[in-house]
Amino acid sequence: MAWGGGWGGGGGGFGGGPHVASSASNLPFGGIPTELQAGAAKLLADEPAHEPARLTFTQRPNAKEQRRLTLPSMLWVYKRWVVTGSMLVIAISLLLQSGPKLTEVAINHGMAPGHHSLRVITVCGLLYLALALLGTFAQRAQALVTGKLASRVMHDLRIRVFTHFQRLSLDFFTEEKAGVLMSRMTSDIENLQQLIQDGVSQFALQGLTMIVITAVLFATNVVLATWTVVLIVPILFAFSLWFHHASERGYLLSRDRIANVLADLSESLYGIRVVTANNRQRRNIVNHRHVVGAYRDANLYTGRVNAIYGPATIMIGILGQGLLLGIGGHMVLRHQLSLGALIAFFLYLNRFFQPIQLLVQQYNALQQGRSSIIRLRELLETPPSVDELPDATTLGAIEGRLTFENVSFGYDPANLVLRDVNLEIAPGESVAFVGPTGAGKSTMAKLANRFYDPTAGRVLVDGVDVKTVTLHSLRSQLGVVPQEPFLFAGTMRQNLRFGRPEATDADLDEAVDVVGLRDLVERLPEGLDTVVHERGQTLSAGERQLLALARAFLARPRVLILDEATSSLDLQSETVIERALDRLLEGRSAILIAHRLTTAQRADRIVVIDHGGVVEIGSPSELLRQGGAYATMYEAWLASGGRDATRERA
Ligand code: ADP
Repeated sequence: MAWGGGWGGGGGGFGGGPHVASSASNLPFGGIPTELQAGAAKLLADEPAHEPARLTFTQRPNAKEQRRLTLPSMLWVYKRWVVTGSMLVIAISLLLQSGPKLTEVAINHGMAPGHHSLRVITVCGLLYLALALLGTFAQRAQALVTGKLASRVMHDLRIRVFTHFQRLSLDFFTEEKAGVLMSRMTSDIENLQQLIQDGVSQFALQGLTMIVITAVLFATNVVLATWTVVLIVPILFAFSLWFHHASERGYLLSRDRIANVLADLSESLYGIRVVTANNRQRRNIVNHRHVVGAYRDANLYTGRVNAIYGPATIMIGILGQGLLLGIGGHMVLRHQLSLGALIAFFLYLNRFFQPIQLLVQQYNALQQGRSSIIRLRELLETPPSVDELPDATTLGAIEGRLTFENVSFGYDPANLVLRDVNLEIAPGESVAFVGPTGAGKSTMAKLANRFYDPTAGRVLVDGVDVKTVTLHSLRSQLGVVPQEPFLFAGTMRQNLRFGRPEATDADLDEAVDVVGLRDLVERLPEGLDTVVHERGQTLSAGERQLLALARAFLARPRVLILDEATSSLDLQSETVIERALDRLLEGRSAILIAHRLTTAQRADRIVVIDHGGVVEIGSPSELLRQGGAYATMYEAWLASGGRDATRERA
């Protein structure tokens, strides 16, 4: 995989003092401040070098990756820890409930009249202490195990979702908002982490504790236990049901309202220029006060609900105890119940309410976790719209013949952008696509390397339908230079090697010379090891283009698809880029989406695309002779002084 060599082990490239580099080249400073440099260097020296992971990526998910996402299936990968955790939960619920029983024994057999025994009291006391200590240790072990379990499971899930993102097709990322996808990776996964770490084990622990206590209550005294179940439990249950509904309502309310707050905030921040220019600050604050106020109200509501539920359950417990004191006291007087048993009963009763309260509170976490799982499952089950056939073959080394055969395509199939297009590009031929904006030039290019599949018709490479070959073998032979080349945070070297991580330094030097990047590299303080900032913001548009061309040259594709930058370049950079293009195109088939007619004029053939199809095709001189659409465009261009409209405006 490309990431393994080129980027994975990138630590070394960042250590060389980018601060110095930036200031020397007058680039905006984005490195490690001097005062922090010593610390950072020490950290880098101590950090283990990350080995490139041994990892294979296939477009088609393997059987394990296709498994349906459920909580049990995620947990079951770590069965050993699940089993250990469960045993610990059982042990804890038993150990922590032994106290009242020991108290009962100590009272009845060590303190009751006629049964005085210091030995029994001492043994009970020591045992009490020992079991409580053991219980605490078991709780610690259980927290460790579930913590580990949760972080492993979340790690797997994050990688699974990320891998799925790598498989999905372009249309998915166009339709889904990046913010929504980010929230799948952050809040949804965090909800789940919460659930696994605390939710599930607490649910099991409290549920089990309730069962143990109920059993003990009945074992201690059936009559008293029956009174408890008949009188107190129904009231508590009804009340808990109310709380559950009320708090869920509060949760939904505050979730919706915080979303509004965030939406308003991000809109105001992104649009700050428009806001300031139109003097909307006051209106903006008023508006933000509204949404923040609504969020505060939702929180107040949740606060009120909690303030009622907590004390009220304690109240119900106390009333119940009062009642049972009456009934139990009578029974003691009538010798139907020992004093120790009554005290033990009371101690257990206290512990009976806590789990109910905790269970109700955990229920919300459980619900949130569940809806997160559902959302993540939907995401994982979204198939890539451009997928490999199960029996896709590897495309061998190609000559570079590209054929569009009766191709029709619409991003929305009901609304065709291209209609029945036929076009053949011979090996080594460069073809320029020209035509008005929105005519479908980029769309044609996107079909060639299968960013999308045609709605009808076929796209062939060397006579092979691109749908029948693996995406990797296809795309490794088709190079794309986008209009706005994307640079990743890292050194120039790493960015150049992007398409071919195994390229040698000699290859790199050649690429730099061929596209005419040498001047820039020599100007940079650390040459190829200079850090370019994310998205290449510290380079000029022309330099970014050259980098992208060098990147494509290094990858040595048989077919090159180049979306020419529309942004204006100064004449000097333009000359450099045109020279670079000439070298890059030597012997390669190419599609040039030409925004400048100088580029179109250099191509072997020009294809004029308009109204969803090819309207003219021929060599530049032929088309000029014919006096059709291209000739008209050319004349208009000459009349404007041979410069492009875009540049004129700039
Ligand atoms: P050109 O490259 O010739 O300027 P494009 O091929 O980019 O034109 O676009 C052709 C048409 O398809 C345009 O009408 C454009 O609005 C539409 N289009 C482009 N990309 C998408 C997309 N991702 N989803 C929907 N419509 C699109």
